[in-house]
Amino acid sequence: MVGNYLVKEIFGPTIQGEGAYTGTPCMFLRFVGCNLACTWCDTDFTPQGAVRYTAQQIATKLCTLDIHHSRRVVITGGEPTLQWDHLLAEAIRVKQFVVHMESNGTQNLKAPVDWLTVSPKPHFHQTSHSLTVLDPSECKVVVDDTVNQETLQFYEAFYPDTLRFVQPCMDNNYDHHLQRTIALVTQNPSWRISLQTHKIIGLR
Ligand code: SF4
Repeated sequence: MVGNYLVKEIFGPTIQGEGAYTGTPCMFLRFVGCNLACTWCDTDFTPQGAVRYTAQQIATKLCTLDIHHSRRVVITGGEPTLQWDHLLAEAIRVKQFVVHMESNGTQNLKAPVDWLTVSPKPHFHQTSHSLTVLDPSECKVVVDDTVNQETLQFYEAFYPDTLRFVQPCMDNNYDHHLQRTIALVTQNPSWRISLQTHKIIGLR
């Protein structure tokens, strides 16, 4: 049976490497496709090698892989809100998974999740993609040279009651971005550092 959801990969057990749930065992579900095109994006969300699954097939595959019963799935992409809907949310919920999602915040959720990470992309807000998600669980800003104190102040005002993280971009200028991230947190104490610890400890 050919499903509605174009899935790049489903994998685990692994560890959430970023944000407030760093270090937490989980599964990952990665969808194909994104509505943005960040120049530094390090994620393969292209249709090559992707598979179409039904909601039931995704839920069953998650259960089969979740051999230690973390019953937590991080849904990502690409941009997962483009495919996330009530049918899939219900199929996964019935299997007793807690759902975390990582979104760029420019698309409204068509079905609820338990934990929503918005990783906004500041360079797009001035053009066509404004933030539509107003109440995420956490906000995680990836720091490259375009992110400065004013950027953080903008998100502080936009998300006054949200956990806030800055995360150095892990490109060829990582050491430079890390130093800037440390300085930004020092100057803006309501923010915390998030590192891509899964990469540091050799996980995907
Ligand atoms: S929003 Fe995320 S997935 Fe999409 S291009 Fe940017 S970094 Fe990559």
